[in-house]
Amino acid sequence: MFPAQFTYERARSEDEALAVLAKYGADARILAGGQSLIPAMRYRLARPGVLVDINAITALEYLEERDGFLSVGATARDYALEASALVRSHYELLASASRVVADPVVRQTGTVVGSLCHNDPSGDWPVAALAARAQIVVRGPGATRLVSADDFFVDSFTTAVNEGEMAIEVRFPKPPPLTYGSYHKIERKVGDFATVCAGVQLTFDATGRVATAGIAIGAVGAKALRVVDGEMMMTGNVPTDELIAEVMQAAKRIADPVADNRGSVDYKREMAGVLVGRALRDACRLSGPQGAKTL
Ligand SMILES: Cc1cc2nc3c(=O)[nH]c(=O)nc-3n(C[C@H](O)[C@H](O)[C@H](O)COP(=O)(O)OP(=O)(O)OC[C@H]3O[C@@H](n4cnc5c(N)ncnc54)[C@H](O)[C@@H]3O)c2cc1C
Repeated sequence: MFPAQFTYERARSEDEALAVLAKYGADARILAGGQSLIPAMRYRLARPGVLVDINAITALEYLEERDGFLSVGATARDYALEASALVRSHYELLASASRVVADPVVRQTGTVVGSLCHNDPSGDWPVAALAARAQIVVRGPGATRLVSADDFFVDSFTTAVNEGEMAIEVRFPKPPPLTYGSYHKIERKVGDFATVCAGVQLTFDATGRVATAGIAIGAVGAKALRVVDGEMMMTGNVPTDELIAEVMQAAKRIADPVADNRGSVDYKREMAGVLVGRALRDACRLSGPQGAKTL
């Protein structure tokens, strides 16, 4: 099906984009990679009157470490993370997630920030952003604000970006030494959205105890969920099989999936626990002899 009629505006700078958003109000939508918005328009699930194409804002196509963060601009593609030696060597959770978002063709066009703004309950980047404690830079006509991932994802397909605003960048804190991460996803076939997914990032202290833990799950609720109880259980402890089993139960307790053609409620809830367990074990194994001595 063809999309409903719309006006197309190409912005070449943040200021131009914000001016168009201010002019058209709620009728305007940002077009980033278009990998979610264009299909939604073709199915008439979205009918924006105006598309504000930000793809010509090359100043936002960056992936760089700055002030203790990995900053990813609004027009940087998913593929930039997958291809980055810096991400591979220092941001294990992000590297792991970047290899399983959609398929290689979609990753060449889709943007990380666009995925966060779309906030699909089955999306991969929101899960990674929660576990990695990301922050999103949101700019409006009067001010720029920094929103934590916890506050950014409001509900299915709804974020903290208000009318007239755009997300400029996502910032992932630079993991301290002894930080390890992993992302696991069950999909019906390569390139599919997750049936269930889980992301984990653990920082160990010199004695092998977990100093900080980030654990999140996706496709099992209206939005990506942080497994806060599991994070608290891990923190201050040396990981063991028993501890990981408890954290898996914590993930299952907060999972609230719906049955669909990808699986039943019981199956998805069970898999939320299983994937958290797998990601935790990965992170512990990667931590070497100091972490997870009994695993
Ligand atoms: C075949 C296929 C398979 C896919 N599989 C997966 C998958 O397995 N996992 C997964 O996570 N995703 C998957 N996706 C979605 C894909 O990752 C999208 O690229 C992503 O969700 C949206 O990014 P985008 O840049 O294309 O955004 P767009 O489609 O351009 O925009 C999406 C929404 O975000 C808004 N938006 C975008 N950028 C901004 C901004 N800077 N500020 C404010 N609002 C903004 C838009 O207005 C729109 O409402 C798949 C897509 C396809 C087509």
